[in-house]
Amino acid sequence: MSASPAVAFTVDLEPDCPPFLWGWRGVEEGMPRLLSLLREERVRATFFTTGDSARRYPGAVRALVADGHELACHGMSHRAFPDLSRDEARAEIDESAEILRAFAPVTSFRAPYLRFPEQYVDLILDAGLTLDSSHAKYKLAYWRTRRADASRQQTRALTRVPASMTSSVLRLPRFVRHLILDALSSPVVLFVHPWEFVDLTHEHLRYDCRFRTGEPALACVREVLQRFAGRGARWITMRELDPRVTHTAA
Ligand SMILES: [Zn+2]
Repeated sequence: MSASPAVAFTVDLEPDCPPFLWGWRGVEEGMPRLLSLLREERVRATFFTTGDSARRYPGAVRALVADGHELACHGMSHRAFPDLSRDEARAEIDESAEILRAFAPVTSFRAPYLRFPEQYVDLILDAGLTLDSSHAKYKLAYWRTRRADASRQQTRALTRVPASMTSSVLRLPRFVRHLILDALSSPVVLFVHPWEFVDLTHEHLRYDCRFRTGEPALACVREVLQRFAGRGARWITMRELDPRVTHTAA
């Protein structure tokens, strides 16, 4: 395991477990629990937020901004970008960025389901978003794009920071969870959803979405944060990994 890793704790603020549930218990019940946990463990996080969530729950967005977390863009409606036409994709990005920027500056982006077509990357940049976290190290698309980026030098305008693992890993039994997390290289990008902190174990859902949700998930994430803190982790927001923001700020 690497010493003193940089760790970004990221949250996708969205409806409950799309595309299966679409309720809002995560934002209403899970979000206050998550914000308290982050306050108690002194972790500043990045919240990739859908425009719909911000419009419905402006109080939740104000609360996360007030706690010093980074507000970031997760599209408008949590529809999958590969299903959208170019005009629809542009509308999703532009509308959500505008709604979110009424609360705080927004420069980071993550596509729903961690799926974003390469040919739409210019739409992110057009909206003034300069960091993309739509890829995941455990998905093949990340490695394919990395190779293409290197040859085409497309990375010039966009900083790419992939998620390190899928969110349900944080709810695995302690032994397996530690084994996986300790092997991740820095910067580590963790992610969770507020709906994981609501008991969904009795919902008709895919098993990986519902197992150990609610209080057990909260306890698992607290353990994860404390374990990284014990390793001397430096908690960072996504923006701190974006040279275009850090160089122009202040
Ligand atoms: Zn999402």
